[in-house]
Amino acid sequence: MDKNFDLIVIGAGPGGYVCAIRAAQLGLKTACVELRKTLGGTCLNVGCIPSKSLLNSSEAYHKAQKEFSNLGIEANDIKLNLSKMMNNKNKSVLTLTKGIEFLFKKNKIIHLKGIGSVSSKNTVTVTDNSGKKNSYKAKNIVISTGSIPTSLPGIKIDEKIIVSSTGALAFEKIPKKLIVIGGGYIGLELSSVWKRLGSDVIVVEFLDHIIPGMDKDISSEFLKILSKQGINFKLNSKVTSVSVVKDKAVVDFTNNKSAKRERIECDKVLVAVGRKSNISEDISKLGVKLDNQKKIQVNKKFETSIKNIYAIGDVIDRGPMLAHKAEDEGIAVAEIIVGQAGHVNYDVIPAVIYTSPEVATIGKTEEQLKKENIKYKVGKFPFLANSRAKVNNETEGFVKVIVDEKTDKVLGASMISTVAGTMIAELAIAMEFGASAEDIARTCHAHPTHSEAVKEAAMAVDKRPIHF
Ligand SMILES: Cc1cc2nc3c(=O)[nH]c(=O)nc-3n(C[C@H](O)[C@H](O)[C@H](O)COP(=O)(O)OP(=O)(O)OC[C@H]3O[C@@H](n4cnc5c(N)ncnc54)[C@H](O)[C@@H]3O)c2cc1C
Repeated sequence: MDKNFDLIVIGAGPGGYVCAIRAAQLGLKTACVELRKTLGGTCLNVGCIPSKSLLNSSEAYHKAQKEFSNLGIEANDIKLNLSKMMNNKNKSVLTLTKGIEFLFKKNKIIHLKGIGSVSSKNTVTVTDNSGKKNSYKAKNIVISTGSIPTSLPGIKIDEKIIVSSTGALAFEKIPKKLIVIGGGYIGLELSSVWKRLGSDVIVVEFLDHIIPGMDKDISSEFLKILSKQGINFKLNSKVTSVSVVKDKAVVDFTNNKSAKRERIECDKVLVAVGRKSNISEDISKLGVKLDNQKKIQVNKKFETSIKNIYAIGDVIDRGPMLAHKAEDEGIAVAEIIVGQAGHVNYDVIPAVIYTSPEVATIGKTEEQLKKENIKYKVGKFPFLANSRAKVNNETEGFVKVIVDEKTDKVLGASMISTVAGTMIAELAIAMEFGASAEDIARTCHAHPTHSEAVKEAAMAVDKRPIHF
């Protein structure tokens, strides 16, 4: 095999594999190194895809048990087969990871199997399973080694009793009691899965609200909804220790305000306190600059401090740790390498929580605008007044649109709805095109759809919603 490439990408997650495909489309001789057996990174193997499979299956189980009879569907004797549910999840993951193998072949991308390290500015060394090293030359290198779960000081994840999201996606038995440390989106999605499947779930969160950084209206409404679903929350609580005693865990935490201490015994603890960038030793040795959170510093062109070495995705110092952000960066960097004007608009990156109902946000929150001293107006519309949501018995949640007070330009939006993750795309397009609330309000939306609530929220900015 010719060992000279125009581009070698290290890591085949959504950042890396998408970058490799776009680079190959643009005519670059491209290789992609991946240490996992399967392609697709965190997202396909232990992230977005398996979590969404379990969210979907557990929601179907919950509905069959609790909601079908209201619709006149009498399905008696509903039983859960967890291993079949897990097999279905594994099958989806396999199909999608194989799909990327196919796309690599189709685009003539060389898949290098093993651990990639940057041994010099133009050399990538790949160490395979047996320890054998091979070196390859590259005009350009893209680092897309992603991220890994973090823990709290003194808490050791064993993936048996104290687990990360990876362990919580593969429990063999339904834990009777599950404690989730961290009320961010990964913790809450997995709390929903196991609650629906029968666990008693307690979420312990350090802050006084869930989903840090999200619009406060959304965060407090979401907390009410999840509490109504039976998830217990211990807010304002600092976990001080987690210990394993036989096959149980004991979690100690202290209330930040009252200093009251609590101890709860449980079957499993999910540590969902965030992820950190995955930086290998070679990167630091080579002198690639990192920020104070140990993320790779890049400029607008995704160049690191070493020319011809680029970085994208969860490993870099900008944007949220999300798969679609990594994908867009993958496309942009490939285009930049061939001299095109690749670009990512960090002001318009949607974020979705795939619980039921879903939560979706984009752009600025009210809290951010206040801090930035930007005058704004808000339009809100509840799903209680949306006909499609009503007939589907999905009336929880609302749409909130935030616009510039003077220009009416949309600055941000957030929503809670069963289909929020799909609906947020309309706001993304609107914001990319610099639309005003009036533009959305005067766009014809199909009836009856949940999307009509977006139109009505846009009309509510000007205090003229029709159905509320
Ligand atoms: C439970 C969970 C649910 C999630 N759900 C969502 C969701 O619904 N939507 C969303 O947008 N995001 C979601 N995410 C986040 C998403 O998975 C990440 O943002 C995304 O995968 C980042 O892509 P990446 O390409 O930067 O890195 P990764 O996907 O982490 O890929 C990096 C790859 O590099 C490989 N690698 C690392 N070092 C080397 C090396 N030296 N040599 C060779 N290979 C190497 C790794 O094995 C890995 O395959 C979720 C994450 C988790 C954990």
